[in-house]
Amino acid sequence: MAIILGIESTAHTFGVGIIKSKKILVNIKDTYTTEKGGIIPMEAAKHHAVLAEKMYKQALENAGILEKDIDGIAFSQGPGLAPCLLVGMKFAKHLSEKLNKPLIPVNHCIAHLEVGKTTGSKNPVMLYMSGANTQVIAYSQGKYRIFGETLDIGVGNFLDNFARALGIGFPGGPKIQTLAAEGKNYIEIPYIVKGMDISLSGILTNLKQKVDSKKYSHEDLAYSAQETVFAMLVEIAERALAYTGKKELLLAGGVAVNSRVQEMCNIMCKERGVKMFVPEKSLLTDNGAMIAYLGETLFKNKDYVIPSKLNSVDIIPTQRTDEVEINYVKECKKSLEKSCKNRNKARIKPYQNISKSFINKL
Ligand code: AMP
Ligand code: MG
Repeated sequence: MAIILGIESTAHTFGVGIIKSKKILVNIKDTYTTEKGGIIPMEAAKHHAVLAEKMYKQALENAGILEKDIDGIAFSQGPGLAPCLLVGMKFAKHLSEKLNKPLIPVNHCIAHLEVGKTTGSKNPVMLYMSGANTQVIAYSQGKYRIFGETLDIGVGNFLDNFARALGIGFPGGPKIQTLAAEGKNYIEIPYIVKGMDISLSGILTNLKQKVDSKKYSHEDLAYSAQETVFAMLVEIAERALAYTGKKELLLAGGVAVNSRVQEMCNIMCKERGVKMFVPEKSLLTDNGAMIAYLGETLFKNKDYVIPSKLNSVDIIPTQRTDEVEINYVKECKKSLEKSCKNRNKARIKPYQNISKSFINKL
């Protein structure tokens, strides 16, 4: 039975979570916000540095444990904003040295997916919709693969930026959701899906031009933006489900809190006979519990660094999900092999028939 502390600091949120045998003992967070404009990395990093020690002590108290009970310290290694990541890593290394306990570097995106398994999901396609990241991720042959993603900005940043143009502040997602509920007319805006990927920056420019023209109500624009962009997300998630043959869709990231995107995903899942999983809100947005949760799995797998080797660990701000070797997912591997076999059977049969009749004609 291991007790793992998790530290999240990739962007706006500093979070501390504690997990014991896959049970969340505590999950506290504090988010850097701005009155106007977007996130300033150095300011967010300062916010995290000021809070780290205090929140760590608070987490221990809330969990009812002592420092010496901790078996390992997990932290977000990437991807994320370098100044913010550095604060988290520095604090995690400090604890690792002080408590003489292993340090467990964790990929932030994979942590979102792994903690989603608390919902009962086992082998999902994850639609990950957060501020900076927007990706469709699923396990395939030893790695979590990115099946589709945004080619430019994340959907949360898109909503926050659009909200700034509407003059309604940060974070914009929840405010746009409220505005959209009052929208009545769908206004045509670009719909940009490129294969398995989406692009959002052109749509943002188009929306800003429409705001400036003062010809449309903000409610109708918010409604049209949500309907269009969420449909694009549902489309690439559905394509990944069709491609992998998986039977589960897991939602993750702050934008997944949105009831309309949940509703649209649900309709698609019902039509495809796929089960949808949505973790509770505190686990959807960035948090320390998910880092500790994946940290515990890695700890059990002896995938960590001992305190005397801390210098070998650094942050990886541009870390890609499929750069990370996964050697602890056994059940996924089996069911993937099964779904591949079924797919191959379905695919090979007609080709075999064609080739036989083709050969007969020769
Ligand atoms: P994350 O980076 O995963 O913590 O998510 C933060 C993003 O989620 C921000 O861009 C928010 O605007 C967005 N967000 C939070 N709540 C909602 C909501 N109800 N609808 C849409 N976006 C949301
Ligand atoms: Mg995130």
